[in-house]
Amino acid sequence: MICPYCGNVDDRVPVPELAKTRVHLGACSKCGKEVWAIPTQKRSEKSQLATVEEGERREEILVKTYLEHEGGVKSKKRRSADDIDREVFDQDGNLIYFLEVKERSNSLNAYDKTKFPFAKIESGKKLIEETGLPVYIVLKFIDCWALHRLVLELDYEKGKEPFAPRYRPWQRSKTRQVPVMIPVESLEILAWHDLCEEVS
Ligand SMILES: [Zn+2]
Repeated sequence: MICPYCGNVDDRVPVPELAKTRVHLGACSKCGKEVWAIPTQKRSEKSQLATVEEGERREEILVKTYLEHEGGVKSKKRRSADDIDREVFDQDGNLIYFLEVKERSNSLNAYDKTKFPFAKIESGKKLIEETGLPVYIVLKFIDCWALHRLVLELDYEKGKEPFAPRYRPWQRSKTRQVPVMIPVESLEILAWHDLCEEVS
């Protein structure tokens, strides 16, 4: 398991492949906090539009929170669905990194590999080649924020089952996509926990 508070990986306790119910995995061997596997929470029944608007606002809040902690003055959306979502600029308007923020309604240890469209890995690698700037994929779980820095030389694992990613309305695509599979134990856990829940 990987601790959502300090990032310590404890090899003695495996991350469930896919937790179906809440599982108490135990206390972190480094910081002592209790670690839970909590599966995806059901979304409440709301109109599609309300959900979309809420999602938009939510994403803005998440991005703003990330920038406040990790640097960057403003961000701009990029429009292609298969691309990395945002460009982030410093106070002088210089582009400093690319960012994709995804929110998950499960805890960090709910499954052993997290997935998103493989196309984003390919376009992210292209951005690194073209600009030399870093590309960050940030995953906001219910109990922590986690980061993957895209690595140009890394041969990413492709999932076998295609899936239908949830895009913003103007990016909605009907095509099912091959996902990339990123082990949650390889993620970098961010030190701050804004907007996270007390899990127990
Ligand atoms: Zn810990």
